[in-house]
Amino acid sequence: MHPRQTTVAAAVTVAGAFEIPLVTRFRNTGARQGLLVRGPSGWGEWSPFGDYGPQLAARWWRATLEAATGSWPPARRTAVPINAIVPAVDPAHAHRIVATSGCTTAKVKVGDAGDVDRVEAVRDALGPDGRLRVDVNGIWDLDTAIRRLRQLARFDLEYAEQPVADLADFARLRTRVDVPLAADESVRLAADPLHIRGIDAADVVILKVQPLGGVRPCLAVAEACDRPAVVSSAVETSVGLAAGLALAAALPDLPYACGLGTMSLLAGDVTTDPLRPVGGVLRVRRPSPDPALVERWTAGAAVRTELDRLLAAARQVVAGDGSAGRSNGQPG
Ligand SMILES: [Mg+2]
Repeated sequence: MHPRQTTVAAAVTVAGAFEIPLVTRFRNTGARQGLLVRGPSGWGEWSPFGDYGPQLAARWWRATLEAATGSWPPARRTAVPINAIVPAVDPAHAHRIVATSGCTTAKVKVGDAGDVDRVEAVRDALGPDGRLRVDVNGIWDLDTAIRRLRQLARFDLEYAEQPVADLADFARLRTRVDVPLAADESVRLAADPLHIRGIDAADVVILKVQPLGGVRPCLAVAEACDRPAVVSSAVETSVGLAAGLALAAALPDLPYACGLGTMSLLAGDVTTDPLRPVGGVLRVRRPSPDPALVERWTAGAAVRTELDRLLAAARQVVAGDGSAGRSNGQPG
């Protein structure tokens, strides 16, 4: 455990900082970093991306506080179907990931030169009955999205996640291609996720607990969007993933597999009961950190200092947030 233990608010303690390498680089980083927090309701994780400022990081902190001091809604199911995750790797590697995953749904990152071959390999690994979705992270312009989705449609896509950056372009795109469209960044980066202009142009919404400020705020967003929801992670340890699992367990309907199988992207975990899917399914549970593993992945002093600095700024946002936070649908 990190020697610097700080009491953040009544009964909430930052127990330590972690840094865990990624198996494949993601968002231009080679590791995930964050804080583990303990409160009367249990453990929480706070792991905003390194390029975030206080406003975005504050949403993530609200989710951490919900986990450590609040409550999650009751579960409606005991297990959640999970999709395999295929990063931007070569086709043979992509095939291997899916074939060994135990999942019947796979999500493939696309948008680079090798993506058609990668998607073809994944379809081959899944077989004709598997479900295959692609994630573009909003990098295509409208014309590129029309052209590329028409090319990829022969692989029978379940949906395309954030094919273009803007929901106005979703509306144009859906008149030009038959592939259903899912909104991810358009939801989690919205100024007001409860009132997203143009969300009707999306067929599916992606919900992520930390970016949207907690499990309960995510349920409110799902209801406001009135679209089928898919729960995905922000590539957390199992402590953070447990909140996503709680959301997936609590949603009234769960017609799609969820993107919570992201432990495969991290080189390690802070618990001896990692939330790794078995047979394409995650059993709903909430693992606690293991002291030896927390120690094993303790971040260096520079990382801890940077996280503490951002947390102080995020807490100021949350503390002064009676108005702005609630207009975002987040608990204050
Ligand atoms: Mg996405």
